[in-house]
Amino acid sequence: MMTMKNRLPNFIPTIATFVILGSAIIYDYYKINDLTIQMSRLKSEVASTAAKQAARTEEIFQNLSGLQSQTAGLSNSLTNTQQNIDAVTTKVGGIEQTVGTVTGTVGSLQKLAKIDPELLKKYSKIFFMSENYTPAHIYTIPDEYVYSSKHSEQFVAEAWPFLKAMLDAAKADNVSLLIKSGYRSFAEQQTLKSRYTVVYGAGTANSFSAEQGYSEHQLGTTVDVITSGIAGNLDKFDGTKAYEWMKNNAYKFGFEQSYPKGNNYYVYEPWHWRFVGVKLATDLHNRNMNFYSMDQRDIDNYLINIFD
Ligand SMILES: [Zn+2]
Repeated sequence: MMTMKNRLPNFIPTIATFVILGSAIIYDYYKINDLTIQMSRLKSEVASTAAKQAARTEEIFQNLSGLQSQTAGLSNSLTNTQQNIDAVTTKVGGIEQTVGTVTGTVGSLQKLAKIDPELLKKYSKIFFMSENYTPAHIYTIPDEYVYSSKHSEQFVAEAWPFLKAMLDAAKADNVSLLIKSGYRSFAEQQTLKSRYTVVYGAGTANSFSAEQGYSEHQLGTTVDVITSGIAGNLDKFDGTKAYEWMKNNAYKFGFEQSYPKGNNYYVYEPWHWRFVGVKLATDLHNRNMNFYSMDQRDIDNYLINIFD
């Protein structure tokens, strides 16, 4: 017979198992609950950190935006400053140019004021020089340059260096070139003309010693030149080596032939040369033009440079 002592009731292990399982379940429940709380805390921490980061990011963005607009402002300001500097520079440049122009104009006017405007005037039978005109500065030509030792010849002082240079250059080229006649006063010319009139008769005298040629000699910047070997006869100057030399070189020293062959203004005078300045004489020579065929207004532009 089986004893009670040896036989445990059947429900005991079952209850133990339940107890054990129940304990495990309860433990797990608390454990899960605890983890859930922790997770929840972490979640809110993460959310809080994210919110803080977002706020910080926003703050940084705003600061950046502020800096950007400040930079743009500075850039505009710099551009404006540069524009102002440019404007001021332009103004200063303009003022400098104006000052330069005014200075140049004043200089030109001062220079021009010292030059006798008669020196480049065209003379004709209608327009001739006042009988009272005398050059301001007259220079007596040294004897070595004058054809006749009986009569001293004169020339405008400011133009003398040009005449001397021309006579010296001819001599250097072995060309005999001398002054037959230079400055003639109104009174001298009157005497000369009346003498011609007596010898040739009024009509002839007027054709070669009338107002035009007379005016140019009274000016003091005109010479009649002669060469050796023609006995002082001006009519034989045409065709001489000296005349050829003059045609090729006189312009370099500022002289032009007022009455060349075939001119419409006066009788042909190959010996008669007028100083008009190197610039005008050169332009006339290069353009194959005559002083009397150029417009007076164009001629006047050369006055300022006549002694250059
Ligand atoms: Zn003459």
